[in-house]
Amino acid sequence: MHELAGEAPADTAPLRYPFDATPAPGRALAVAPGVLWLRMRLPMSGLNHINVWALDEGDGWTLADTGMQSPETATAWQSACAGPLQRRRVLRVICTHMHPDHVGMAGWLTRHFECRLWMTRLEYVTCRMLVADTGREAPADGVRFYRAAGWDEDALESYKARFGGFGKAVHTLPDSYRRIVDGEPLWIGGRSWEAVIGRGHSPEHLCLYCADLKLLISGDQVLPRITSNVSVFPTEPDADPLSEWLESLGSIRERVPDDVLVLPSHNEPFRGLHARLGALIAEHEMRLKRLREELATPKRALDVFDVLFRRRIGIDMLIFATGESIAHLNCLITRQQATREVDARGVNWYRSL
Ligand SMILES: [Zn+2]
Repeated sequence: MHELAGEAPADTAPLRYPFDATPAPGRALAVAPGVLWLRMRLPMSGLNHINVWALDEGDGWTLADTGMQSPETATAWQSACAGPLQRRRVLRVICTHMHPDHVGMAGWLTRHFECRLWMTRLEYVTCRMLVADTGREAPADGVRFYRAAGWDEDALESYKARFGGFGKAVHTLPDSYRRIVDGEPLWIGGRSWEAVIGRGHSPEHLCLYCADLKLLISGDQVLPRITSNVSVFPTEPDADPLSEWLESLGSIRERVPDDVLVLPSHNEPFRGLHARLGALIAEHEMRLKRLREELATPKRALDVFDVLFRRRIGIDMLIFATGESIAHLNCLITRQQATREVDARGVNWYRSL
């Protein structure tokens, strides 16, 4: 669910990073009046942290995102509560989207503080669905999907062995939630914030924009140094999340002014939102163009990694690389620039039109 398969673009965008330091686990840095930046560790080698935000409500806090479920994250939250959060209650937990590094501790925090979880509907419902897959056997539809992408039997065995891991990184969600809808004004810390929904990285991803403070909590929708994973998964093989992603980036550029300080879930707070949005769109369009050229001769999803990613793809990255390749291929199909044929063994072959 992370941003690892994407290729980091060249540092062309003129982004500015106003903070020199990053907060240690359990500590916080103020990034705006009443807005604290905290960091939780992630147990991955590439992306080792997530940024979360605490918004001062006077008598307590609204939290935005929570970290992955682990005893270490629980300890970090306990230190934060005793330290920078001054033992004041958490009044509400907002999650930008359903990936475990964002939603992992939401159930723990809402139970501990007897408060509610606020999320968009598709993020809440999809999270409940994925958690329910935990412990199940890998479905035949999933095996068929990855076989169609060109995976060999060894890779398919590793998919089966690893299926259902999602729920292990997520503390049981509360059984009810407060829905957030696109454009809704939210009153947080005595100020109005606007819900800005994006799609593509996850189904109904929430960003929060405060005109008053000139802040955008961007989640994984806009990251400064890495490219968010945009993937097709076996549940919806014909999905076209890349078109949704590109459309969302364009809509954020229209709705949120360039002079905000962006608070992303990974890397550091930055200025230069519109430049970054433009660079992300340009990077994907460039990859789509190269991919279309590559499909002059028919290829499987597995055959186009070299065109899309700079790094070599090992078996641990295979799901994300495959999902991201199919996202690009399905986008070309939507644009009627490519077509897909299935061979006798059930493998999909793509060629440009
Ligand atoms: Zn994510």
